[in-house]
Amino acid sequence: MIRDRYDYLLCGAGLYNAVVAYHAIKAGKTCLVVEKRDHLGGNVYCEDVEGIHVHKYGAHIFHTSDERVWNFVNSFCEFNRYTNSPVANYKGEIYNMPFNMNTFNKMWGVVTPAEAKEKIDSQRAKAVSEPSNLEEQAIKLVGEDIYKKLIKGYTEKQWGRDCSELPAFIIKRLPVRYTYDNNYFNDRFQGIPIGGYNVIIDRLFEGCDTMCGCDFLKNRELMHVADKVVYTGAIDEFFDYSEGELSYRSLRFETELLDMENYQGNAVVNYTDRETPYTRIIEHKHFEFGTQPKTVITREYPADYKRGMERYYPVNDEPNQKLFEKYKAKAEEMNKNRKDSEPEIIFGGRLGEYKYYDMDKVIASALSFCDTEFGRIG
Ligand code: UDP
Repeated sequence: MIRDRYDYLLCGAGLYNAVVAYHAIKAGKTCLVVEKRDHLGGNVYCEDVEGIHVHKYGAHIFHTSDERVWNFVNSFCEFNRYTNSPVANYKGEIYNMPFNMNTFNKMWGVVTPAEAKEKIDSQRAKAVSEPSNLEEQAIKLVGEDIYKKLIKGYTEKQWGRDCSELPAFIIKRLPVRYTYDNNYFNDRFQGIPIGGYNVIIDRLFEGCDTMCGCDFLKNRELMHVADKVVYTGAIDEFFDYSEGELSYRSLRFETELLDMENYQGNAVVNYTDRETPYTRIIEHKHFEFGTQPKTVITREYPADYKRGMERYYPVNDEPNQKLFEKYKAKAEEMNKNRKDSEPEIIFGGRLGEYKYYDMDKVIASALSFCDTEFGRIG
C-alpha cells in the first residue's frame, strides 16, 4: 500500500477486477488490489513448467460471440487458432465431442444426418417435452445410448449428484450437431492467448497497487482506504454466512511432468465412465501446439466443497438461487443504509454474482459495470 486513500479497493484479482482495474486507471482513478493468493489472475493464472503454460486452476479456453469482448481481449494479446475438440474415453472406446456426426457414426455406424436423427428418435422413448432435470434434457437431446455412455457418469462425477436432481441448463452448454464438426463451442471467436493468460492479466492490472497474499475478509478495515470496493469473492462468506451457506463444487488437480513428448494426442480427454475417479485429463502443451521435449498433464477430480477449499462452480439450483437472492438483497440494503464514511460495495464475478459464468461473460459483466461507472470507451 503506497497511498493513504484510493478511489477503488479491488478485492480479488481475477478477470472481473482486472477489467475494472484497467478502466479505472484509464479514467484517471487510483486502485488498490488485494488478493489472498500469492499471484494475480484468479483462475486463469498459468504456471510455467518446462516452457509449457500450465492452467493451474483448470483448463481455460477462450470463446465468445461477443465482438466487443473479443476486440477487448485482442487489444492486449494475440490469440492462437486453438479450437477445442475434446475426445471422450468411455472404458477405452473413443468418441468425439461435442455430440456430432462423428460421435453418432462411432456409436451406431450411422452415416447420414437422417440416419442419425432416426436413431436418436428411436431412443427418445422416455423423453418428455418439457424436461425438468438434466437426465430428461439429455435424453431428449441425444437419446439413451449417448446419455449412458457420454453424459451420465461424467456429470454425476462432476456434480456429485444424480442427473435427475440436476438442473437441465447445465447440459444445454453442449452443442448437438448433425454435421461432422468436432468444435466444442458454437461461438464465433475462439483461441488461447499467445504467451498465456498472464500476459493479459499483467497488462490489465498495470498502474494499480497490488497486495498479494492478503485476505480482504481478514483485513476488512482496509475497506476504509477507498471510496468504493469491488468484491469478487464469495458473497455468503462476505456476510459471514448469516443466511446460510451457498453450495459450490470444488476440484482437485493432480499434475505430473512426464518425460515424453506427447501423452494423449489432445489437450482434453474426458473420462465419461462412473468408475474412473477423475473427469478429465488435460495435456497443457496442446493448447499452444507446444513442441517441448516433455509434457505436463493434469488429472481433474471433482470434489465436494468444504469451507477452506477453492470454490469452482456455483450450484445454481433453486434453493441455492433463492439463498443467493437473499444475499443480494442484503448487499443492496447494506449499500443503501451505509454511513457517509463507509464505501459502497459492489459484488462481481462468478463468486460475487453466484453465476456459472464463462470467461467472456465475466468480462462482459465487468465491461457493463465499467460503462456505467466510467462511461463507455470502445
Ligand atoms: N458433459 C458431459 N460429458 C462430457 C462433457 C461434458 O456430460 O464429456 C456435460 C456435463 O453435464 C457437464 C456439462 O456438460 O457438467 C458442462 O461440461 P463442460 O466440460 O463444458 O464444463 P466446464 O467444466 O468446462 O465448465
